[in-house]
Amino acid sequence: ASLASRDSKILIVGGGGTMGSSTALHLARRGFKDIRILDVYQIPSDNSAGNDIAGSDSLGLFGGVSDTAWDAWTSDPVFIPYAHTVGKLDLTPGDTPRSRRLREKYEKFRAMGRTDIEWLANAEDIKRKAPHLKDADIEGWRGLWCANGGWVAARDAIDSVGRELVNLGVKSSFGSSGTFASLLLSEDGKTCRGVKTVDGTEWEADLVVLAAGAWSPVLVDLEGQCTSKCWVYCHVQLTDEEAEAMRGVPTMYNDVYGFFFEPRPDSHLLKLCNEFPGYTNIVEHQPFGARNPIKMSVPRSHAAHPTDTMPTESLDEIKRLIEICLPHLKGRPLINQAMCWCTDTDDANWLLCEHPRWNGLVLATGDSGHTFKMLPVVGAQVADLIEGKLSDEKKHLWRWRPGAGDPHGRGRGGPAPKDLSEVDGWKHD
Ligand code: FAD
Repeated sequence: ASLASRDSKILIVGGGGTMGSSTALHLARRGFKDIRILDVYQIPSDNSAGNDIAGSDSLGLFGGVSDTAWDAWTSDPVFIPYAHTVGKLDLTPGDTPRSRRLREKYEKFRAMGRTDIEWLANAEDIKRKAPHLKDADIEGWRGLWCANGGWVAARDAIDSVGRELVNLGVKSSFGSSGTFASLLLSEDGKTCRGVKTVDGTEWEADLVVLAAGAWSPVLVDLEGQCTSKCWVYCHVQLTDEEAEAMRGVPTMYNDVYGFFFEPRPDSHLLKLCNEFPGYTNIVEHQPFGARNPIKMSVPRSHAAHPTDTMPTESLDEIKRLIEICLPHLKGRPLINQAMCWCTDTDDANWLLCEHPRWNGLVLATGDSGHTFKMLPVVGAQVADLIEGKLSDEKKHLWRWRPGAGDPHGRGRGGPAPKDLSEVDGWKHD
């Protein structure tokens, strides 16, 4: 059954972020007339995991052989200017279970007649596709190259969504009048009838969508279904010549060492990330609806803590990535170091359903670190849920499933995440 009609008043908490802005876009395109996004920050929100402190961000690892989201990036006018189809390398350091999975994927898609992928069996094959790795120490590496993929200018893309929302008549409130404080409930406590923000405003609504990313489980009790964790990144400032030498290179991902991709054409900032299970920030906190304070991971955002950098061990891993892959950049300053927050479910699937305790509250969260690439399409899934059009299969995949949060790192198939309290080098206030 549909949860709202096109005349319903809809509030989207976290509407300046990835899932929230996409939801607003798709609902508005379907003719929903009364939508308001709420966020701490103006869209593109400084808090969003898709954003970046230098205001010149980019995100990599997009597309791939079976990825329909990339088609939307390269066909929807709101997104086309921000997608860079440079191809994608998906690599692993040796004869690992992952290399066997990649090989199986390759064989499956070749059998289907796909010619836009290649198997790279050794360092020479890889360097042929990626000339910028010519001095890289990657003996034994192997993996897949896909033509259909690349990286996106993330902040610019959300900004573009923001402009489209204005064109479509979507309303917004940012700052203290956009910052969630609590739900407004009906007298019997069974129906959500809006949101109270920290300035005391009571925003009445027929339907509230909670799409607050890593803050979702902090704002409303999700019964342990989402565990918020941070990942890290930094930049190297390239010279014009260095940037030119990397123009159009495919994105490079290695499941052990990390990833990087073409520097942005305007700033020449090269963004680098290591690959690890993330860090939690466990403190005592009482989300709306919880009976008592709970020990849970609460994001510590860069926007609110601008002097935070990253743990030394992660910085060392990024230095190792540079030493292995881009040895000519060894020793260069690693600038704009920051941590950004995602929220993981145990099976890495979204939590996209109505809250069973309160009618009129829809959850659109549990990004599990792979949702920016879905920016053009994720809102269509939320809109389908609201319009009662979501298939039973998807409903099951994204259902309410208490206790499914991922404190042990299972969703990403790695070890359990460390807590920020166990690592040093990141805190400077
Ligand atoms: P967000 O985009 O974080 O949005 C949440 C919003 O809620 C924010 O705007 C925030 O301000 C708002 N909010 C918070 N508190 C409140 C409040 N009290 N009231 C109102 N609003 C509030 N994904 C990919 O697909 N491909 C990649 O290559 C990739 N690389 C990544 C690299 C790094 C280093 C990181 C950190 C993430 C990466 N991701 C990638 C993950 C991707 O960025 C996230 O999955 C996605 O952005 C999460 O979307 P979201 O809408 O759930 O949360």
